Amino acid sequence: MNHQGILVVVSGFSGAGKGTLMKELLKRYDNYALSISATTRAPREGETDGKEYFFVTKEQFEKMRDERKLVEYAQYVNNYYGTPKEYVEQKMAEGKDVILEIEIQGALKVKEKYPDALMLFLVPPDAQTLKERLVGRGTETADVIHDRLERAAQEAQEMGSYEYIIVNDDLDTCVKQVHELIQSAHCKKSHNTAFIKELQQDMNCFLKGE
Ligand code: 5GP
Repeated sequence: MNHQGILVVVSGFSGAGKGTLMKELLKRYDNYALSISATTRAPREGETDGKEYFFVTKEQFEKMRDERKLVEYAQYVNNYYGTPKEYVEQKMAEGKDVILEIEIQGALKVKEKYPDALMLFLVPPDAQTLKERLVGRGTETADVIHDRLERAAQEAQEMGSYEYIIVNDDLDTCVKQVHELIQSAHCKKSHNTAFIKELQQDMNCFLKGE
């Protein structure tokens, strides 16, 4: 089978539980690499540069963008966010499945560049749960929470661009579901073109007794 890793895009409303899902996936399975984005947003309490994000200035971000060092980028609630290219390509070549936890505009650009990317969209069971999670997190002001809920409502209109919608009601079920989807994606024909050719040749040689 192919040894190149696959690209997995995980999007979802702010507060849908993407961060927790990522942490669990990385803890339980060892074939995943999580891409660390660059952002102009200020670090939240407890966030470290180079761990959750690379925290950069607007000028630094624009330089990365202009030098084509980003796979994609987008503006989200007054800040820039982007995926550094080098890490993604290196880890996929090493055979790791690379997960991008990004918003919808960037996700659509990734799908254009990498049509085989697996597109997952994470949602809460309902709107009330989403609001409770955002408020309960205690990391954003009421204004920012309002902006994020507004953005979520917009994103809900565009969810149809994703292949799979995952409801994050029970975390354990959700982690297993996502893991299984990624594993199944490895069996897709488009991820195995080199292997298919190799096997066809092997079968022919075998029949000829070579
Ligand atoms: P937060 O500020 O809550 O960490 O992230 C805000 C939004 O930006 C989330 O929806 C998150 O998925 C998205 N995001 C994080 N990194 C990137 C990135 O590199 N590119 C894009 N397009 N969105 C990102």
